Amino acid sequence: MRFRFVGACGGSVTGSCTHFSYNRTNIQFLVDCGLIQGEGDESIVNSKPFPFRPSEIEFILLTHAHLDHCGLIPRLYKEGFTGKVICTTATARMAKISLTDSAKHLKDIYSENDVKKIRFECIDQRKEFGLSRLLPIHTDLFASFSRTAHILGSATITVSWINDADEKASVVMSGDLGNNTKENPYQPLLASRQGVFGYPDAIVVESTYGAGVRDSECSDYDARLSALHKVIQDEVFNKKSLLIIPAFSIQRTQELLVDIYCVFNQFYSTNDSIQSPIHIINQFYDEFESGCWGFIVQKSLKNAIDKLPINEQEKWLKSIKQIDEVNKAESKSNFSLSENAEISIADIKKLITSTTNSYPIDIKLDSGLAREMSTVYHEELCRPQIKKPEETLYRNRKMASRLGVEDGVQVDEFIKSIFPNNSTTDIEIPLGEHKIQYVTTPKTPRVAELQERGGILITGGGMCNGGPVVSHIEKVIDAKRNSTILLTGYMAKNSVGEKLMKHSQATPKEIEASTESWVLGSKEVLQKNITTNIIQLQGFYSGHADQSGLLDFIFEIVGEQKQETQTKPSAVFINHGQPKARAELKDAIEARLNSGNEGDRNPNEIYLPDSRQQWYDFNSKKWIAPVPNTRTEDLLQDLLSEQLKTNVLLQRLVDQLASNKYANNNIKKK
Ligand SMILES: [Zn+2]
Repeated sequence: MRFRFVGACGGSVTGSCTHFSYNRTNIQFLVDCGLIQGEGDESIVNSKPFPFRPSEIEFILLTHAHLDHCGLIPRLYKEGFTGKVICTTATARMAKISLTDSAKHLKDIYSENDVKKIRFECIDQRKEFGLSRLLPIHTDLFASFSRTAHILGSATITVSWINDADEKASVVMSGDLGNNTKENPYQPLLASRQGVFGYPDAIVVESTYGAGVRDSECSDYDARLSALHKVIQDEVFNKKSLLIIPAFSIQRTQELLVDIYCVFNQFYSTNDSIQSPIHIINQFYDEFESGCWGFIVQKSLKNAIDKLPINEQEKWLKSIKQIDEVNKAESKSNFSLSENAEISIADIKKLITSTTNSYPIDIKLDSGLAREMSTVYHEELCRPQIKKPEETLYRNRKMASRLGVEDGVQVDEFIKSIFPNNSTTDIEIPLGEHKIQYVTTPKTPRVAELQERGGILITGGGMCNGGPVVSHIEKVIDAKRNSTILLTGYMAKNSVGEKLMKHSQATPKEIEASTESWVLGSKEVLQKNITTNIIQLQGFYSGHADQSGLLDFIFEIVGEQKQETQTKPSAVFINHGQPKARAELKDAIEARLNSGNEGDRNPNEIYLPDSRQQWYDFNSKKWIAPVPNTRTEDLLQDLLSEQLKTNVLLQRLVDQLASNKYANNNIKKK
């Protein structure tokens, strides 16, 4: 057996693809076949010829549904691949949704029709399936799937084969590793990631966050929930702001919905629990100081008075008068104390701060793609294990206690209601007096709709470059209204999300002096005119294990006895990380090796594979120098590469001409 790294190597993070060649049965297969993202013109970088013939690939093992792992599979079918894609049911379903959506943006590379050609084999539906259990995939070839807690359905895939000495050999392909562990499953939805069994010949490990160790606070369930509670209390209840949360459609949206549910369930769902005192830290509160106030404050004050015993209400109502038209121009307000008022401004303030005034908050989700993904969570987060039907395959065991329900049956019910199985109609899920609304048309709530309360809008377009979030940001970013953007995800370089992140870290002086202007959707905004408050909670929601998690994955031996006689060194290949992350993870592996931790696995070689696509041979445990191409082969390859690029550009030209013609025809008609 030999393998080579086709993508996500040489310091790049996206385009995961590993090419295997099995000499015993003379077959080739892939683990993942992902899209290259954020490295120039997406259509052009992704139309480079594959370094193999797609028709000669027997099958693909797919770790998870993110596009940087599955995004080029339709192109493989388009170019002659006819095999199966073997993965979990959740991965198959979400990959299909994702790829159908991406076909719209990558028209030059593949079509929706190519997506329809994909033949998935859902391994977790085989009768003999069990987590980490090796199952036959092909002659003398086996694979096991273990949980990684990265996204729903994501897996570490161990490939096992018979080597030239007729012994079993194996390599562990980590896929993307998440954060939940058995000891600390702090993220909301998924059960802990599983470790590596025994002594594989090699471990290929991702290194997205290989360079650092996260603050312990970020890995704490209560800390995350209280951070989110604070944002909701400050922004939504106190400032009555529209809280916009851009979120990725897979995993982040679902995690946020459950976290927000838990915050509301815990703090805002019953009448006697703590509700928001009206306007304490609100700009309107100051209006009382002047002795006159406007309609909004009056409405809140009236609400507070309505809650007093009937016999006291009259005294209050008589003490407040509406300012007449003549004096209104001067005071610019509508209400003040009347001449014979039996109460003072201090009394009003006291009433307002002491009255708990609850008001319903709308929590809206308007991302169509996230809704479609949620229909997969509806089923798959409840999927039982075939061999242990009393346990679910992916679900965090802590969910019941965190939701305050009794058992798994009630968690099932909760999941089925919060992740509806229908993505085409408007749905309302009551949450105490508040409600979660799945809406089908994205619409930014107007100020008038929110006057008496704040609102929460979870929306599509995690990095704020596309999706419904763009139109929301456009409307609020420099508007005279209270709005807040909460960032919870990874922001790629030069994305709008990254700009917002930097803005939130700038000092008021820097912002005042800024001459920078940003293009947001169809609008150009000066940085100093931004009125939106930007808050970051990224650390709490990261989907990737940090350095210490990666080290545990590499070194900790799960299962088998740890007797010395059995130990066998493993080669470690670090991929899927930027140069700094890979180098620092390598240093950290060496440091842990030198510390001689008892019971640790023993990595004897550590490689940072580059993009030259050399083969690594598992029999000789050596890299094989590539056979140099002949001049003719080089020329042919260059020609093919240029041809594919030309195809993309020609297709664009045809589309452009067609749309011009359409526009011209329309003008003529008018
Ligand atoms: Zn991923």
